Amino acid sequence: MASEAPTCDRCGSERAVIYQPHTGRRLCLKCFEEDIVERVRREIERWGMLRLGKTRLLLALSGGKDSLTLLYVMAQLHDVNRMAVLTVYEGAGGGYRLREIENLKRFAKSYGVDVEVVSFRDYIGAELAELVRAAREAKLGVKPCTICGTLRRRIINWYARLHGFEKVATAHNLDDEVQTLYMNILRGDLDGMLRLHPLAPTLSDKLVPRIKPLRKIYEWETAALAYLKGWRLPVEACPLITEEASLRAHIREVLYRLEWRQPGFLLRVLENFDREMLPLVKQLYGKPRLPLCEKCGEPTSYGRRVCRVCEIIDALREKLSRPLTLAEPRPQR
Ligand code: SF4
Ligand code: ZN
Repeated sequence: MASEAPTCDRCGSERAVIYQPHTGRRLCLKCFEEDIVERVRREIERWGMLRLGKTRLLLALSGGKDSLTLLYVMAQLHDVNRMAVLTVYEGAGGGYRLREIENLKRFAKSYGVDVEVVSFRDYIGAELAELVRAAREAKLGVKPCTICGTLRRRIINWYARLHGFEKVATAHNLDDEVQTLYMNILRGDLDGMLRLHPLAPTLSDKLVPRIKPLRKIYEWETAALAYLKGWRLPVEACPLITEEASLRAHIREVLYRLEWRQPGFLLRVLENFDREMLPLVKQLYGKPRLPLCEKCGEPTSYGRRVCRVCEIIDALREKLSRPLTLAEPRPQR
């Protein structure tokens, strides 16, 4: 049983406020924060994710705890004048995202970072809720999260390329990464699995390289940091979330149980993956460039002539009241 008000195992002076099961240490808030910032710095430097203080970096954020943690950490490690935040407004229905975006803007402003909002409507002419409704009518059998993720990734890359960003950082944490790793294994998607490696090449000049600086930070750590710092967090969830693919939910549950029984399990899985898969990742450098979509000219998967975004537009065009078209590039800022 923990004794009353234990002191921090790192600095030995402050009162510990958090127990870190994977290290067995009790930490004060300052040491907990510093530990996260240092681990992110090490991960960035280990894989050469970016040149700290130099690279033009776009943070693609939603506004949840992971997003705020990434912004908070990068504001300490990187030059805030070399980075900006992009958030994509999907339009899933309800006002929760608008409140989340306002919160993100306030938070980013306190670090002197601008937030740009690009909506699905800006890019494709319709909101996610309309697209999902039309997809149901058309009996497309595509899940809302698939439409949402496909379009969001496209918009982020399009925006980053248009504005000359060298790297895009997303706020995926350790739990996300290991879940995705297992999903790819279960689907037998070796390429998808290898692309999770931080040294995996970008297979098209039209894709801005993406990095995940929080990939070794547990989700509970971003939640704890947000709580201890008193950051405001959205309490509402996306109204379409109930239709999330259940495979991830099952994997998440199993992984949590394993982590609970063997603290540090997720970290070890990703460390082993980083090390053992390196030879296979290097083979990806010999792969041909990704084909370009015949309709929009954006990169698409091997074997495809038309990209997923154009496929969605084509399938839904007649079901919507407005025509769906891709946005014209905006002038450079
Ligand atoms: Fe998009 Fe699915 Fe997330 Fe909703 S839950 S924002 S539909 S990915
Ligand atoms: Zn296309």
